[in-house]
Amino acid sequence: WSEDTVAVVTGANKGIGLAIVRQLAKQGITVVLTARDANRAEQAIESLKSEGLDDRVVFHTLDVSREQSAHELAEWLRQTYGGIDILINNAATSSNEMGANFEDAISIMNTNYLGVKNVTKALLPLARNTPAGARIVVVSSRAGVLKNLGNNNQLKTTLSDREHITEDLVDRSVAAYLAESENGTWKEEDWPDMRKAGYAYPYRSYAVSKMAVNAYVSVLHNNTRLAAAGGKSKLINVFSCCPGHVDTDLSGHLGPRTVDQGADTPVWLALQSPKGGSGKFWADRTEIEF
Ligand code: NDP
Repeated sequence: WSEDTVAVVTGANKGIGLAIVRQLAKQGITVVLTARDANRAEQAIESLKSEGLDDRVVFHTLDVSREQSAHELAEWLRQTYGGIDILINNAATSSNEMGANFEDAISIMNTNYLGVKNVTKALLPLARNTPAGARIVVVSSRAGVLKNLGNNNQLKTTLSDREHITEDLVDRSVAAYLAESENGTWKEEDWPDMRKAGYAYPYRSYAVSKMAVNAYVSVLHNNTRLAAAGGKSKLINVFSCCPGHVDTDLSGHLGPRTVDQGADTPVWLALQSPKGGSGKFWADRTEIEF
């Protein structure tokens, strides 16, 4: 890695995202810290000064839920660096909803699922054609494992066929959840309930959004492998991972892990890119089941 290596991190003004920025900057890489609020980003960069890392970090604004914002970032990256080597999709949101609140569900999907798609699609053409391949890491969650889908066996079957999964199938799964939460036909036993795993709230929309991004990682992996094999495209490694339960705003500071511990696997995937590991789901530097 060198200062010519360019990494982009989303939702990087605090929490695990900022720890990812710090760990990447320590490698001497150029890190683009993106955030939707310039003041919060400035404070984040200020916090890197004591370690002398602020010189390695550049801010650019990005609201992942806005396609236009992702395209503006892409254009700036193209003009400034010509390409990128690493993209870490970290930004996400959640809510303490008890049922399936439609407003919350929309906002969570727009950030956690559509946000990942917006940014990945805008930045993918900038991925550099290196022998080891560019890397895309999605910071997801074990909340999104398919066994959390309750009795929804049809959806479980669709999403677990990772070889044949398509973006359209993932979109339709998300649309089905949103439609049910909007029109009230939603059935508790069909969708995730994180209370069963000991959490205080069901985090239903959050879990569905993470299920969707995990599936989207498989879609990306299949698409890029097919295109690369046909000589039409460059090699890109794409990983999904869970950082564990981390002490951040998103977890209500209930997680026992530090942000540096949470950043470890995403950074490891970005830098080490374990052979044969693209398209898979990771935690604690180990492959786990979707
Ligand atoms: P934080 O709440 O600390 O940070 C979330 C970051 O995402 C913030 O920088 C926030 O920005 C940003 N963000 C939210 N919406 C947008 C948006 N529309 N555009 C751009 N940025 C946005 O959470 P964590 O650090 O805990 O979460 C990081 C990742 O780790 C997430 O993907 C989360 O799902 C995952 N994760 C976390 C776990 C945990 O225990 N903490 C467990 C499992 C997974 P702003 O400050 O402007 O709101």
